[in-house]
Amino acid sequence: MAAKRTKYIFTTGGVVSSIGKGLASASLGALLEARGLRVTFMKLDPYINVDPGTMSPYQHGEVYVTDDGAETDLDLGHYERFTSARMSRGSNVTTGKIYQAVISKERRGEYLGATVQVIPHITDEIKSRVIEATQNADVAIIEIGGTVGDIESLPFLEAIRQLKLEAGANNAVSMHVTLVPWIGAAGELKTKPTQHSVKEMREIGVQPDILVCRTDRPLSRSIKEKISMFSNVPVDQVVAAVDASNIYELPILLNAEGIDEKVCELLNIWSRAPDLSGWQRVHERFTRPTKGTAKIAVVGKYVHLRDSYKSLHEAIIHGGLANDCRVELDYVDSEQLEKASAQELEQRLSGADGILVPGGFGERGVEGKIKAIGYAREHGVPFFGICLGMQLAVVEYARNVASMEGANSAEFDASSRFPVIDLMPEQRQVRDKGATMRLGAYPCRLDQGSLASTIYGATEISERHRHRYEVNNDLREQLAAKGLRFSGTSPDKRLVEMIELPGHPYFVGCQFHPELKSRPMSPHPLFVHFVKASLERARALAAGSSRGTDDRPRADAPAN
Ligand code: GLN
Repeated sequence: MAAKRTKYIFTTGGVVSSIGKGLASASLGALLEARGLRVTFMKLDPYINVDPGTMSPYQHGEVYVTDDGAETDLDLGHYERFTSARMSRGSNVTTGKIYQAVISKERRGEYLGATVQVIPHITDEIKSRVIEATQNADVAIIEIGGTVGDIESLPFLEAIRQLKLEAGANNAVSMHVTLVPWIGAAGELKTKPTQHSVKEMREIGVQPDILVCRTDRPLSRSIKEKISMFSNVPVDQVVAAVDASNIYELPILLNAEGIDEKVCELLNIWSRAPDLSGWQRVHERFTRPTKGTAKIAVVGKYVHLRDSYKSLHEAIIHGGLANDCRVELDYVDSEQLEKASAQELEQRLSGADGILVPGGFGERGVEGKIKAIGYAREHGVPFFGICLGMQLAVVEYARNVASMEGANSAEFDASSRFPVIDLMPEQRQVRDKGATMRLGAYPCRLDQGSLASTIYGATEISERHRHRYEVNNDLREQLAAKGLRFSGTSPDKRLVEMIELPGHPYFVGCQFHPELKSRPMSPHPLFVHFVKASLERARALAAGSSRGTDDRPRADAPAN
């Protein structure tokens, strides 16, 4: 029997960047999955970096890590959060990766004397990667980064034009995401940017089949008709994506616009009506939580660009969903805490029911994070440290409890007398920066009876990593003797994976990135329990103040 062929949906974006192609793709994927189809995704990024791993979070937002250790675009996080599809190394392709492969083939003489060119060699490399990475799905949603009209996205658009042609009728659709802005002065929604964007698409030979129009208000029938007329897209294939109150409402909104039904019709797919009850429950919980609010301070360096902490932000929200509470997030710039006096620190952090220090690289703001961790430890505020956040919790404990004066991570002070965080020998050999960290899923064993094992309800776990530095094994004993518990390690015990502080209401750190695996319908236990502890503190404080007393839990003496 011939293998069933994968049908394609190609997502492109027009008018402006950050238009939400990733979320539109992920939401459509969720709807198709809710119809019982096997869905996968791919992201094609036109930049020349081989992967986003070497890019600053300010440039590119979060680097999303897959189980198999690829450093990828943050849209892959949306795909994994919205569906059960699992992304891997082949799911994110960049211009850099394509050229690297083509140039190596040329050096090996594999092109047999041909002149190597953008068409067909680069486009063929793109096409073969798309075919390879999507072959086991019913439907593959392939998103092209950037905006149509960018010079660098042309080879990708040419490749999808060819793939669409080769797939034939009913096997591929092109979905174009555009903007329909409201111009206040004219009191009108404007369709011209969409018209121009579709014109660009048609110039390169791809007629969009579905238009997803981002807008801040519903599109009337007459506006849709106007867009349809000028863009040559049938009116019932013009879909409004009205700004949602939260991203998990998007599948519901797009379904109401009929997008999944239309896509199935165009792809000639017979499927059941989608079961959206899960999404409805998530949306309901998000909009009307019944158990109050937990205020969480996220103390980090990249707080001015939310995309840098995309998965983290979502995972905290998921923790709120699991606890049926609202989570109020306060992003605190760690650099501003560096110079803060004790009183200013108190002012900035005393409103927080929980303090989270996320992952990061580089020295800026590090001392501010250490201060925030010290505050959480001493005041019994629930604390969650992730990757760098855990490493700095070890530094703080070493300095302020274990009397290791000047303790630091070797990342920030190579000559510290107490390098409690240091490179393992294998990382010392590394010269290239790209793809050389400890990356991807590794197993971790949790101590029986530890808080960590209670949270997970297991002692064997697997989580995703992205770091170079580790807890220094030479100083581990000394820290443990002073009360810091190393509750999770690699199975060979060489690497510390989790820490906790017995006697503190909730103080947990992990070397890995649990936020990468949290989903709205299966929130990650570490976020569920951190939000739970924060909510408990909020309630205890509220009960205390309503009785007119301050019975906030205190642990002024170090908990050792
Ligand atoms: N900079 C630290 C390391 O490389 C932490 C990395 C992170 O937080 N992802 O180990």
